[in-house]
Amino acid sequence: MAPWDYPDFDDHEGVHLFRDAASGLRAIVAVHSTALGPAAGGCRYWRYARSADAVTDALRLSRGMSYKNAMAGLPMGGGKAVILADEGAAKTPTLLAAFGRAVESLGGRYVTAEDVGISDADMVAVSKETRHVSGLPVGGGAAGGDPGPFTALGVYLGVRAAAKRALGRDDMAGVRVAIQGVGSVGGGLARLLARDGAKLVLADVDTARAEALAAELGGEAVPADAILGVEADVVSPCALGAVLTADTIAALKAPVVAGGANNQLATPEDGWRIHQRGIVYAPDYVINAGGIINVGLEYLGQGDRAEVEKRIAEIPGRLDTIWEESKATGDPAALVADRLAQRLIGRG
Ligand code: NAD
Repeated sequence: MAPWDYPDFDDHEGVHLFRDAASGLRAIVAVHSTALGPAAGGCRYWRYARSADAVTDALRLSRGMSYKNAMAGLPMGGGKAVILADEGAAKTPTLLAAFGRAVESLGGRYVTAEDVGISDADMVAVSKETRHVSGLPVGGGAAGGDPGPFTALGVYLGVRAAAKRALGRDDMAGVRVAIQGVGSVGGGLARLLARDGAKLVLADVDTARAEALAAELGGEAVPADAILGVEADVVSPCALGAVLTADTIAALKAPVVAGGANNQLATPEDGWRIHQRGIVYAPDYVINAGGIINVGLEYLGQGDRAEVEKRIAEIPGRLDTIWEESKATGDPAALVADRLAQRLIGRG
């Protein structure tokens, strides 16, 4: 099937397939939009059941990056790369170099970075073959490096804004926040909230990880399959996508859902479901933009860590704009965010 026949094809500007027989590389780079600048988005190294699933992932994720970068106010478009982690495609320096040459061949239309399965050390290997890389380790005070803590900071500010809107709270003392997944983003969020005296309920499929963090921060750990339905003021999905479904939305007890995971809504209808329950929902690509703001400014050479933090501090204002428009129009926050993003990239 040609890329434009996929359900997730959305007038992508380009879908590029790469093959390097010597290293076993098979990669797809999807460029959704360069209307605002070079198409930026990470590279995922993942084992797909079918190569068609890899194309779908690249199409969907690259569109998401267009929306995320536009809403973050970055002069960057949206793109995404996936490397098929098949038998015979081990993540060797040779394979990463071949991927770097593939990125370079696009002449800067696509800028890569880390995503699932790719570390900053991998990006260093890629950077030997192309300049169009971000998320490289940086010295103190500079923009760039591991995006996780910056994503966590933006999510923290977004959670506070959502708590203010739904609960009228100016501070987080005693506010009960349930976090699903306590890795880089969820763990960072938990630490920031603990400083404010929030009551933490933590869950991770790695139960030891959730228990250790709960013990350290004075929270409570619960089983991973129970977290979305616990009694809480805020539920914060910080693990996988597609966790908000008809069933999990019906079981939510919290008046706020605000977390860092990408693609939290399983379907667009779930945006309506969460809205119809009167839950304040923070659209994921708006609240979790801290990491891309960090690596975007690194690539663009625009400012230092203080500038990154200043831009991340704008996330709550963007969420307020979305919630206000949602209230005025009666449309779900997720739909309002998509509309704003589409307008920004000239597709509204
Ligand atoms: P991570 O791998 O560091 O942490 C994810 C954690 O979730 C792990 O501890 C894992 O064990 C846990 N987990 C997995 N499945 C789970 C489940 N079903 N229930 C509970 N816990 C589960 O990843 P991360 O960097 O923290 O990213 C988390 C989410 O945020 C992902 O959806 C990612 O796409 C998104 N995100 C991350 C960044 C970033 O800068 N790291 C930026 C934007 C979005």
